[in-house]
Amino acid sequence: MRSAHTLPPVLCYHRIGGPPELGVTRVAHSVFARQMHALARSGWRTVPLREFVTRVQCRVPAPPNEFLLSFDDGYASLADNAYPVLVDVGFTATTFLVTDFVGRTNTWDVRYTWRRLPHLDWDAIERWRGRGLEFASHTASHARLTWLSDERVADELGRSRQTLVGRLGPDAGRAVAYPFGARDERIEGLARAAGYEVGFGGVRATGSALALGRVPVYMWDRGPTPFGLRRDATGTLGRLVAGIANRCAVGTSWMLKLRSGGAVV
Ligand SMILES: [Zn+2]
Repeated sequence: MRSAHTLPPVLCYHRIGGPPELGVTRVAHSVFARQMHALARSGWRTVPLREFVTRVQCRVPAPPNEFLLSFDDGYASLADNAYPVLVDVGFTATTFLVTDFVGRTNTWDVRYTWRRLPHLDWDAIERWRGRGLEFASHTASHARLTWLSDERVADELGRSRQTLVGRLGPDAGRAVAYPFGARDERIEGLARAAGYEVGFGGVRATGSALALGRVPVYMWDRGPTPFGLRRDATGTLGRLVAGIANRCAVGTSWMLKLRSGGAVV
């Protein structure tokens, strides 16, 4: 069991800018840009995913100013609102893609946006990968894995990994972020069997490489240093609230379930 604080902290953003929504995962473009510039100015550096995986596997302690920056869902607007900011400040990031929806609009989630949002397509992914950004799996269709049979989970994880490795090479098949952060030991075992080396869940880590923690950045996390990187009492409280909000995302899954006629999707 490794101690969580020897690993770099991990931030998780979803949408940056774009149309407003009734949900909490959209961070304004101006807030995001201010945070990235402030972090770069105060000496923070982003660790590439492949280096992060090495730190997990070899138990190399992380320097105190290093973090892993990640985006979930792979919205197309990242290419306009997030990636150029990262290039400006010399940061890199990992985007977790819902592989069945690359190049398509989202039908997999209830985002309260009143409109369907496009996802990055393979051309854009290739282009930004050429500029140093990394991509990994957020499963095939963004289903809540803990509600699925072993067979369906293996399909969600395996199909997504196969697509990523086929399109982008073996490094793209090393990490998975579980949709809604929902995982348990069964899901971790199936992720390992599918070939993933690291897996990201909710705010709390368990010590397993397949159950690493991340702190989501929600719309109220507007200060120059997001709660996930603050070492004071405000940061501790902010991470606690983020953990609660993350668990409340179960509501989105229930809405989807109701809309699909009650079948567990
Ligand atoms: Zn997601």
